[in-house]
Amino acid sequence: MSEMQNLKFLFPPRVKGIKIFDSEALFPVGKIYCIGKNYADHAKEMGGAVDRDQPFFFSKPPQSITQSNTIAFPTQTNNLHHEVELVVFIGAKCSNVKKEDAHESIFGYGVGVDLTKRDLQDIAKKNGKPWDLSKGFDNSAPISKILQNEKTIMRQGEIKLSVNGVEKQSSNLSNMAWEVDEIISWLSKFITLNPGDIIFTGTPAGVGKLNPGDQIDASIESVGSLSFKLV
Ligand code: MG
Repeated sequence: MSEMQNLKFLFPPRVKGIKIFDSEALFPVGKIYCIGKNYADHAKEMGGAVDRDQPFFFSKPPQSITQSNTIAFPTQTNNLHHEVELVVFIGAKCSNVKKEDAHESIFGYGVGVDLTKRDLQDIAKKNGKPWDLSKGFDNSAPISKILQNEKTIMRQGEIKLSVNGVEKQSSNLSNMAWEVDEIISWLSKFITLNPGDIIFTGTPAGVGKLNPGDQIDASIESVGSLSFKLV
């Protein structure tokens, strides 16, 4: 250990920071996990179903986070999709935590969009390949400011997304198949969650194609809103 203390980083580590409402501090981004098929209507539109026995997760790299209000339209896709999601920010370490204790690890919440290259994802699914390049590209995780709301499990609130002023997704957090405390408890059986870690909690029905020039506005009741333009 003492040997490590004498060593210096070759270049400064790149740590993304997320802005927080009413705070000068930045939330340093650690691991990002996303749950799949967590609203029955979206699972159905994707040709599947919610699995109440076994949720599944994928991850995005920390550098996929952006809080810019303009995002360059990504390359290598002809079918970019929007997925509005409640995002949970972890503020305390937890491992193998019970559902009843999961609230202890919550720092706050935000509005996020899990941008997805649906065409690449469809090919990956068909071939049993990983989703990384369809889900984890540059700026694939636009996110609002964080609303600090420690030790609180959010169970309801309207969740919406519109494209160019036309509503595309509209649901309620109460429709999540796996609730926030259940998601944290399940994930923490497999990995240690640390302060800085982030969880995307899934999207309701109405996902659809985005084009260059589109204006995206998303909101979650009692959490906040997120707006960005694809350029
Ligand atoms: Mg998603």
